[in-house]
Amino acid sequence: MRGMIDCHIHTARCGHAFGSVAEMVAAAESLGLAAVALTEHLPLPSGLDPAGEYAMGADEIGEYAREVLEVAADSSIDVILAAEADWIPSRAAECEAIRNRAHEAGIHVLLGSVHFLDDWAFDDPSLVSRWDENEVLSVWERYFDEWCLAAASGYFDVMAHPDLVKKFGHVPLADLSDIYQRAAEAAASSGVMIEVSTAGLRKPIGELYPGTDLLAAFANAGVPATTSSDSHAPFEVGYRLNEAVHAMHEAGYRRVGLPLGGGEVRWYDL
Ligand SMILES: [Zn+2]
Ligand SMILES: [Zn+2]
Repeated sequence: MRGMIDCHIHTARCGHAFGSVAEMVAAAESLGLAAVALTEHLPLPSGLDPAGEYAMGADEIGEYAREVLEVAADSSIDVILAAEADWIPSRAAECEAIRNRAHEAGIHVLLGSVHFLDDWAFDDPSLVSRWDENEVLSVWERYFDEWCLAAASGYFDVMAHPDLVKKFGHVPLADLSDIYQRAAEAAASSGVMIEVSTAGLRKPIGELYPGTDLLAAFANAGVPATTSSDSHAPFEVGYRLNEAVHAMHEAGYRRVGLPLGGGEVRWYDL
């Protein structure tokens, strides 16, 4: 099977995006995408989202799942009910409870994301000044320590934006090949997929997540991949996916996967 897939899409429900599920899916249909996954941010542990601008509310999981399934039933393309879940080791029990509530609501596909180092949402533009208090390489090492634990945990179907830590352009002047190798081995150890996300092309770093060298490490380790826009508005759905496909091809990938839950994947030729 051939076709473009967008495996990472948000809606207004998270408090920092625009558009309903129906509007996001309509955008995908008009672009001729083969499949999409709706991946709203699951609620965060208490206190981490004081303004309600990071994720859906604590009581919204069921409503969100119903909304996606209703739109999916009427859509001409494949619409997967999924969600984006945070990896926050200091709040592990609460994160597990939130994942369990998602499963109970029928959400069986989870993106795994590291957005927090302790209580610092390091990718939040309003907190970017905190980067000045930290040494870039040590932030990267901490980020990838957490990322590897998350990738190996078995909790997630896809690891989102694998090198998100570079978002604002903070990249260490160091040989990163050991870090990338560790990331690839961690993902390969659990069978988790990674996403090739075009969101980084819209950010100061101006690159795909993951960048060329990290994507090559994933490809060499046999880690399967999907493509995604991480869209936060209807006009971002499908954003420059052809560049993600091209990068995958260059790295040696010949197929792109759509996670269906329970370890099942639908494959599309690149
Ligand atoms: Zn994310
Ligand atoms: Zn996202």
